[in-house]
Amino acid sequence: MNTLVIQHQDCLRHNPGSKHPESPARIKAVLDGLEGLKQLERLPAPLATFEQITRVHPEPFWSALRAREPAKGRVALDPDTYLSRGSIDATLRGSGAICFAVDQLADDRARRAFCVIRPPGHHSEAERAMGFCLLNHVAIGARHALATTAAERVAIVDFDVHHGNGTQAIFEDSPEVMYVSSHQMPLYPGSGQIEETGCGNVLNLPLAPGDGGPVFRQAWERLGLPAVHSFAPDIILVSAGFDAHERDPLAQLELTDRDFRWITDAVVDLAGEVCGGRVVSVLEGGYDLQALASAGRAHVEGLKRAQK
Ligand SMILES: [Zn+2]
Repeated sequence: MNTLVIQHQDCLRHNPGSKHPESPARIKAVLDGLEGLKQLERLPAPLATFEQITRVHPEPFWSALRAREPAKGRVALDPDTYLSRGSIDATLRGSGAICFAVDQLADDRARRAFCVIRPPGHHSEAERAMGFCLLNHVAIGARHALATTAAERVAIVDFDVHHGNGTQAIFEDSPEVMYVSSHQMPLYPGSGQIEETGCGNVLNLPLAPGDGGPVFRQAWERLGLPAVHSFAPDIILVSAGFDAHERDPLAQLELTDRDFRWITDAVVDLAGEVCGGRVVSVLEGGYDLQALASAGRAHVEGLKRAQK
């Protein structure tokens, strides 16, 4: 079975400014990194529907966000987060990609999918865009799986170097969704302490600046992966940021391409044991173009191999 790569040109239209690290070139870097890989099927991301979005983001927030998209130039939502012309379509393709991927897996058309989209999503709260993020794609994908497929429990694995404060906040009272995150601490956005456990469905694995592969793997091997295994999800969603890479300019973890391959293999194997191998991964952060290409390729090589 092919691994799906879901993408759309509209994701290049979001323009937070030429000096902003979250650039359209990130998408090109990831896709270039996948060149030559076999058994990939590239499919276009649809626009997310109003129903898909409003399962997570209340209608007044979404309407207000749409209304702020400028006809030209940029509007700052906070010091890091901008809307340009095309931003709304870009973020709609991101959320649409993950919902589409969830549907494809539910229909047994594939076992794994990678959504190569931007802007990222995991910092967005239900009623607040922040941290480069507009809509929270992984949260929308999780709610979509619960609402429209046979899935009763969804696990979200987040190895972006930043804590997914938005994802955690959206699900902290929702026992049907488990959220497990490794991230550097201290670092933006400041949340993600071990003590933050939601309703018993949140597990935070904070790592220190300078930590590398051994500490990262140990945290997932001893705590993160066993927690997901016990939860026994029906599908695993991955917030795949590549900004914990040693080359990344925005953080100080020291992961290599091999570590991204390791966590991907571990998640795929776990999925093989608990949920028929179903994994949908969505691009979050990652701001070094070379690292995006090589670590993204390592990630997809892991996704496309047969699970144990
Ligand atoms: Zn990040």
